[in-house]
Amino acid sequence: MASRRKKVYEGKAKILYEGTEPGTLIQYFKDDATAFNAQKKAVVDGKGVLNNRLSEFFMVGLGQIGVPTHFIRRINMREQLIRQVEIIPLEVIVRNFAAGSLSKRLGIEEGEPLPRPIVEYSYKNDELGDPMVSEEYIIAFGWAQQQDLDDIVSLALRVNDFLSGVFYGVGIKLIDFKIEIGRIWDGDFMRLVVADEISPDSCRLWDMKTSRKLDKDVFRRDLGNLTDAYTEVARRLGLMPAQAQNMTKPTLIN
Ligand code: UDP
Repeated sequence: MASRRKKVYEGKAKILYEGTEPGTLIQYFKDDATAFNAQKKAVVDGKGVLNNRLSEFFMVGLGQIGVPTHFIRRINMREQLIRQVEIIPLEVIVRNFAAGSLSKRLGIEEGEPLPRPIVEYSYKNDELGDPMVSEEYIIAFGWAQQQDLDDIVSLALRVNDFLSGVFYGVGIKLIDFKIEIGRIWDGDFMRLVVADEISPDSCRLWDMKTSRKLDKDVFRRDLGNLTDAYTEVARRLGLMPAQAQNMTKPTLIN
């Protein structure tokens, strides 16, 4: 049980414990949902279980097409074993359609297609509310080098193509998403990997036909039951047993 292991870090939606061997950690997915820099909070029954399984699904898929990630294996319903990485303090956001802060900032209607995928960065700092930063800031303050940023953009665009295709196949439009990038050191050699999680907590997902929201905006904007929305994503991706399609408590296929 992770509760008997040493806690390394506790965030808003996840806890990190010491791993089973050096260089690993256990990532535990909580049911806590937060929005607007934790000003809005709730416990959403089953969210952690769904995000653990969904993040496993995406990270394994990325690994299979050659995109490196921190993921090693899922341990149980709420935990996964991951590589310990040095997190770059940036939220890397990729957008295909206007929504959220971009729509607000530029007055573009949500859902409007963008001329090309846009990659942008926020500085990970809760006290400051994760402010948007430019490449100039990132290099000047030493959070990453130009070469890292080139690698981050190409990783982010590969993740975008992969996720867009996977979601397209199940009738979902990938509006935008956020990833985090970690460094893994091997002596003097460093490589960048996709870290943290990929789940409906960190993506905007709209049903292709109805534009129904299947992501954390359901919670942010009080649009209905968050577990139902995430269960629908898992169901479409083939991660739910057929008989559990309409159950409120998610039962996941291994
Ligand atoms: N996002 C995230 N964590 C954050 C901020 C944003 O996962 O702390 C995700 C968000 O779910 C969306 C994308 O990044 O899929 C772009 O978010 P945006 O900048 O529009 O911010 P928001 O409108 O959510 O404040």
